[in-house]
Amino acid sequence: MTGWLAIAGLGPGDAALVTPEVSAALAEATDVLGYARYVARVPSREGLALHPSENRMELQRAEEALRLAAAGRRVVIVSSGDPGVFAMAAAVFEALEGAPELQNIPIRVLPGVTAMLAAAARAGAPLGHDFCAINLSDNLKPWPLIEKRLRLAAEADFAIAMYNPRSASRPEGFARVLDILKQAGCGHRLIIFAHAVTTPNERIEMVSLDEARPNMADMATLVILGNSATRRVGRWVYAPRRAS
Ligand code: SAH
Repeated sequence: MTGWLAIAGLGPGDAALVTPEVSAALAEATDVLGYARYVARVPSREGLALHPSENRMELQRAEEALRLAAAGRRVVIVSSGDPGVFAMAAAVFEALEGAPELQNIPIRVLPGVTAMLAAAARAGAPLGHDFCAINLSDNLKPWPLIEKRLRLAAEADFAIAMYNPRSASRPEGFARVLDILKQAGCGHRLIIFAHAVTTPNERIEMVSLDEARPNMADMATLVILGNSATRRVGRWVYAPRRAS
């Protein structure tokens, strides 16, 4: 039996946003690996082994997935949203770099709807002009680099999508993020807090940055700071397509 590995995105939460391609891979799989909360979203069935693991076990999980595929299993490693956005795809390729003997395994990366796009759709079109995405976790990069990127993104007038805004281990970090963006002159800009988008707990808040409070974000929140021209129309927020 020829094994393979699919690195799949489950989307932001709603089963309707799991792509048919991902559903087909899951239907053929013998093994599913991932962070326990994401594996819990995969319906169990006979012949399917579920391998939930803890957060921050990315490299070990990737190595295990490669080993299983090399042994002939049909393996899906799941992420929320898109697997290439602050998720498992990069971890798998990192593991592959360290294991040349596994580089012939058939690997596919199956895209998913990333949280940023689901959040933007709820708000209107805040990413309708140029934007960037920044992971606010300092787990894998130094905090000064996050601050530098925030300052330069603000200066370049990008809309900024922010992943991983808060965690128990660094509760003050997001307050600092809001301060940096205010100091960069963004206080008047609109900011969107999209919590648990497309799940039953969804909550969307839109305020100006000056009105934003750190506790408006938790780890299930995707934050989008608009650019300087982003504005409201009725209950919607959008970034005009033209810039001068
Ligand atoms: N690969 C994922 C991102 C993983 S990082 C993706 O493409 O979406 C985890 C962060 O994603 C969370 O801290 C949060 O900022 C964001 N996120 C994931 N799902 C979300 C959802 N349903 N609603 C809002 N934010 C979400």
